[in-house]
Amino acid sequence: MMKELSGKKWVSRFQGSTITDTLSLTFKSNVNAFLASLRNGGAAITISATLRPPERAYLMHWSWKIARGLAEPNAVPGKSGVNIEWVHTKIDGSYDREKSRQAAREMAAAYGMQNLRVAPALNSRHTQGNAIDMDIRWAGTLTIKNKAGEDVVIDSLPRDGMNTALHKVGKTFGVIKYHGGTNDKPHWSTDGR
Ligand SMILES: [Zn+2]
Repeated sequence: MMKELSGKKWVSRFQGSTITDTLSLTFKSNVNAFLASLRNGGAAITISATLRPPERAYLMHWSWKIARGLAEPNAVPGKSGVNIEWVHTKIDGSYDREKSRQAAREMAAAYGMQNLRVAPALNSRHTQGNAIDMDIRWAGTLTIKNKAGEDVVIDSLPRDGMNTALHKVGKTFGVIKYHGGTNDKPHWSTDGR
């Protein structure tokens, strides 16, 4: 099959989900309970990703790596179902490394990965439906019920998803904050990976 050159047009393909309905069964009910509790407490939540098709994970992973100079466009393995050509050529048909990298940079930017400090994994909790990326914010003091229905008062900083007291509440619901610190701020999953 004819391959299509890498570039921004790939980003709208193999769309990821931003709804909790696409999550795995157990994680879905855990996340929904945590979100309900957050909303009852007055927190604002914006979900940016839940289930990610493996094809999208492949495109994100390699465009990020090429864009950062951590992979050579002509050495990227193929993936069935994704007929992308990472190698751009010059008019004379020879390998154009800079053009290839530029196309990957445009893809990485269109995926919103400018500030990402680790490559999105090829196989991850997202491709399994076991992870959610979300922005959580509140004003003042957040009073939120844990899974047992007990009020937890959070008056510490920051007033967002990086708050460690909030991580403990999430854990009671089986929604675990990413273990890797600030490398992936919006990421929560079944096990923190
Ligand atoms: Zn994530």
